[in-house]
Amino acid sequence: MPRLGVLGWPVAHSRSPAIHNAALAALGMEGWRYQRLPVPSPLLAQTVRALGAAGFAGANVTIPHKQAALAIADSASLAAREIGAANTLSFGADGAIAAENTDAPGLLEALGLEMHGRSALVLGAGGSARAAVWALTRAGAEVLVWNRTPQRAAAMVAQLGGAAVAKPVPADLLVNCTAVGLQRSASEPEALNQLAMTVDQVARYPHVFDLVYAQHETPLLAAARRAGAQTIDGVEMLVAQGALSFQIWTGVRPPRDVMRAAAAPGGGD
Ligand code: NAP
Repeated sequence: MPRLGVLGWPVAHSRSPAIHNAALAALGMEGWRYQRLPVPSPLLAQTVRALGAAGFAGANVTIPHKQAALAIADSASLAAREIGAANTLSFGADGAIAAENTDAPGLLEALGLEMHGRSALVLGAGGSARAAVWALTRAGAEVLVWNRTPQRAAAMVAQLGGAAVAKPVPADLLVNCTAVGLQRSASEPEALNQLAMTVDQVARYPHVFDLVYAQHETPLLAAARRAGAQTIDGVEMLVAQGALSFQIWTGVRPPRDVMRAAAAPGGGD
């Protein structure tokens, strides 16, 4: 009975079980089940090493384990190694653990925009920003990075390419890879202020992609939508990266419309 799951701490908020179980049901893959795997950091390595023998074919990895998961794996794709993080682990019959990063291709698929010769401003310098910078530079974009802690942006672009900027600058695409917008408590000006931006400055970007997925529209996307920008929310990337992981584990392309519907609030477990 093949099992799948998502490793995180905390992981209660994750919509991955909902989207994967909806796809498994739609495909009639009886016996497969995708579950939450809440694991604190000190227990990660021993848990991951035990998953294959416990019947797991694969697992997604979320906050805060993406870097540690890469280190635990026996092999990793070039993308995962260069990004420095894995969000997808596969467990072989021989017990070997393989790591992949589907955040990077998932981001480009969700974006659905030809980026060659265009500019992109990435906000953030954490794990998802690393995947965004890696993917966008390889797609031929000129990548600029702003982060609250400037030293982290400088260190990241030194490794992955792109250029760090001291304040947000205009670009064809704005990508929020920070956690700002997750909490509903912040007002729109407060949230934008955490990104060193005003409502007027958000209007400088014709395409705005917010990786944050929440039950509400994020303040950044609300401001961008009012300004007439094309907006893309984090659910699109959640579905795209999840669909790519699903295909790695099962060899089957899952129905993305089913996954998208299940990601919506009230759409499943
Ligand atoms: P992470 O590695 O913890 O990085 C967090 C980033 O957010 C850092 O750059 C941090 O800046 C910045 N940040 C946090 N609080 C801030 C604040 N109050 N003001 C300004 N900047 C702040 O997290 P991550 O894995 O990159 O994830 C970031 C977000 O993307 C999360 O909300 C996550 O759920 C979302 N995400 C979505 C998907 C998807 O499929 N849709 C995939 C991956 C991630 P400092 O460096 O200054 O601390």
